[in-house]
Amino acid sequence: MNHQKVAIITGGGRGIGAATAKIFAHHGHAVCINYKSNFASANDLAQEITTQGGRCITVQADVSLEDDVLRLFETVDQQLGAVSVLVNNAGILKPQMRLEDMNADRINTILTNNVTSYFLCCREAIKRMSTRHGGQGGVIVNVSSGAARSGAPHEYVDYAASKGAIDTLTKGLSLEVAAEGIRVNCVRPGFIYTDMHADGGEPERIERLKSVIPLQRGGLPEEVAEAIYWLASEKSSFSTGNYLDLTGGL
Ligand code: NAP
Repeated sequence: MNHQKVAIITGGGRGIGAATAKIFAHHGHAVCINYKSNFASANDLAQEITTQGGRCITVQADVSLEDDVLRLFETVDQQLGAVSVLVNNAGILKPQMRLEDMNADRINTILTNNVTSYFLCCREAIKRMSTRHGGQGGVIVNVSSGAARSGAPHEYVDYAASKGAIDTLTKGLSLEVAAEGIRVNCVRPGFIYTDMHADGGEPERIERLKSVIPLQRGGLPEEVAEAIYWLASEKSSFSTGNYLDLTGGL
């Protein structure tokens, strides 16, 4: 079992993260499903994976908090072994509003959950993966968003800007660690059917907007998960610092 690849999926209990955890488990990875507060969905998913013969653990950790991130990675060290794949997926959205109505608390909450969290998890992954630190190399896939390009005006410019930061993180970090056995890439999903749109205050948002999507429909979490898996696999071995858009042509 020692050579089994170990993948950490932040926010792995629901939505895109859950679909990602399933596909990694299906391909033989030991999976750490991180979640913040929804124990039930993370636990149900873990049971499903285990029932199908996969190996996984669930770890509650708020990845916007440094101590929680340290505990998450230490738990994986102890229970699964050296991490080889990090999928930075955990993210949040706040209700739709114009920037002029946003207060500092909202903006900072978005930035710590969507940006600081990715930085902290990247840091802990690199300490373990980098050949500079005696590691075996590894792969990081960041989940950004098509919003990084659209800017999400009138809805959530704060969220869009947080994803723009992830695009820049992906580029800079990929170059920083390229010679140390680590690839860093990014997916940028468009409108994907998950609970997140309800958090933005409009559960039916995709139905309203799907006519502007060239493929005329929203995407499925599984369609994003396939791309994440490909970027983490050896099939994409010459790709680093790249962005893969999954927006149905938008
Ligand atoms: P989702 O269904 O709302 O799930 C979000 C997941 O993130 C949940 O598992 C949640 O944990 C976890 N999470 C949030 N904050 C966390 C924190 N501080 N620490 C640990 N876990 C945390 O969202 P989703 O649509 O799958 O989104 C996943 C990623 O895709 C996000 O980065 C999002 O920005 C990005 N994305 C989504 C879309 C879309 O249309 N859905 C489009 C572009 C990009 P709990 O289950 O414990 O609450």
